[in-house]
Amino acid sequence: MRFFIHLLVAVIFSTTSYCQNEFNWCMNKSQATPTSKTMNDLVRQISAYQKSSVEVIIPVVFHIIYNTDAENIPDSVLMQQLDIINEDFNLLNGDTNSVRSIFSSIIGNPRVSFCLANIDPDGFETSGINRSETNLQELTVAQMKSANTGIKGWPANEYLNIWIADVTEGILGFANAPWDSTPLKRDGIVLDYTIVGKGNTEKGRILTHEIGHFLGLYHPFDNNCEEISSGNCDSLGDKVCDTPPQLLSYNCNDDSQNTCTESTDDQLDNWENYMGYASGGCRVMFTQGQVDRMNAFLSIEPRASLVSSNKCSSFTGLTSFNKEILTIYPNPSSGIFYIASTLSSVNDYRIDLFDLSGNMVYQTNFNKNNKMLDISVLPKGIYVLTITINSASIPAHRKVIIK
Ligand SMILES: [Zn+2]
Repeated sequence: MRFFIHLLVAVIFSTTSYCQNEFNWCMNKSQATPTSKTMNDLVRQISAYQKSSVEVIIPVVFHIIYNTDAENIPDSVLMQQLDIINEDFNLLNGDTNSVRSIFSSIIGNPRVSFCLANIDPDGFETSGINRSETNLQELTVAQMKSANTGIKGWPANEYLNIWIADVTEGILGFANAPWDSTPLKRDGIVLDYTIVGKGNTEKGRILTHEIGHFLGLYHPFDNNCEEISSGNCDSLGDKVCDTPPQLLSYNCNDDSQNTCTESTDDQLDNWENYMGYASGGCRVMFTQGQVDRMNAFLSIEPRASLVSSNKCSSFTGLTSFNKEILTIYPNPSSGIFYIASTLSSVNDYRIDLFDLSGNMVYQTNFNKNNKMLDISVLPKGIYVLTITINSASIPAHRKVIIK
């Protein structure tokens, strides 16, 4: 009977694009255009490169479309949501310690950060937050993204657009996959206002889930137990090999749950995974395989442009980081960092430190006798450091993480 119910749900998914909240809060279609085997070859080729040398910081713009005061989410809650995704995508979320030991060895760290845009598409300063009042009580995804009924997206090759409103039909989240990103003005993520920030049962993790889709991930339950029947785990199921195959389930914290029985090395369901549907806030991890797949999509268009976007003006030139110029260690640290650079011929230079909202939070002058940076007074989190010599920023910046 249980299998029949799952089968029924699967049929509903494959024939319905807009689904009901209780069944499918994430509008992404489970049968979306599959990526090819080539994609997985690419994953293997570039993941090592990605892990070592690229500083990924993606400019974000929030578009708030509201009918009631509750829907007009305050800046403070949006900042909280930005913190949540920055923690989750840098493995700084404290709740990873709730992952069962059988999965702890496959936890991955995407090392992707998100900054609030502070330059708009016309080159003017912006808060990175757009607001528009509407007479509509609920909006479809298309209405949210329309200039007439919502807010037109900013160029998606430079910004991650995140639209927030009271979304129709119980949809909590929707993301365009990289292979489904056109037209570019519609590319981005949609969220229901009820699940933004920490003060909801999902603890702000719906956006983490949707960014996973935006960077090329499927649900671990997509295509059901398909992965158990073949060795082609990189082209079946969710196309990620280290995520155990599973059926859709909303259960949280069921230690014995095992909805797909693999013929060899059978594994329990990984309900801790951000990309599943376990409700109640127990989703706390990506796997390394999922991280490799996201990194692969970040290295090719349409997502690669986001990595080189300079719409967080405080730390422009994000792709030009050169390890030769600047090394910071240990990183993460508790707040004491040492700096090694090839700038030894320069006697004095200035270091600026920014938070991911673009605010400068620390500035100091350095010389070759002073290589220690003590910022332990700052709150834990992710910062971006730049170096300036003779009033000119050099193309070097690093994320520094205070843990
Ligand atoms: Zn989803």
